[in-house]
Amino acid sequence: MEITEVRMFLKEGSDKKLKAFATVTFDNCFVVRDMKVIDGNKGLFVAMPSRKEREICSKCGHKNIVRSKYCNQCGGSLESFQKLPSQDVTTRRSEHRDIAHPITLECREYIQKKVLEEYQSEKQKGEQSSSSDQNNNSGINSQLV
Ligand SMILES: [Zn+2]
Repeated sequence: MEITEVRMFLKEGSDKKLKAFATVTFDNCFVVRDMKVIDGNKGLFVAMPSRKEREICSKCGHKNIVRSKYCNQCGGSLESFQKLPSQDVTTRRSEHRDIAHPITLECREYIQKKVLEEYQSEKQKGEQSSSSDQNNNSGINSQLV
């Protein structure tokens, strides 16, 4: 397996730990979006795409944040929360779950190396370019807030 393309979307803003999003193509035929470049305590690393777990209301279908007891939309109690077997408690505690991730250390290091290389080169390009890029970035940031 080989990484054939990395697309980098720099995100310098209020969240200083999140540096960029990456879209990674494997073997010219499989794409994984929303990998993240994070500036952690031990330096830059790549986080796999993840999704926030949601508590779906059985009455109206509204997606509530995890551990909600009542629906944000209709006020009904989220019964699924109480009915769950206790063995599921640990998995439900984490609000983010990886959508795709490497299962070997070798693969993880390979992806990380390729993504961080692309991040560094994009960052250099960004520092050289005009201020119009910065305007775009601030627009994205305000949408997220
Ligand atoms: Zn509801």
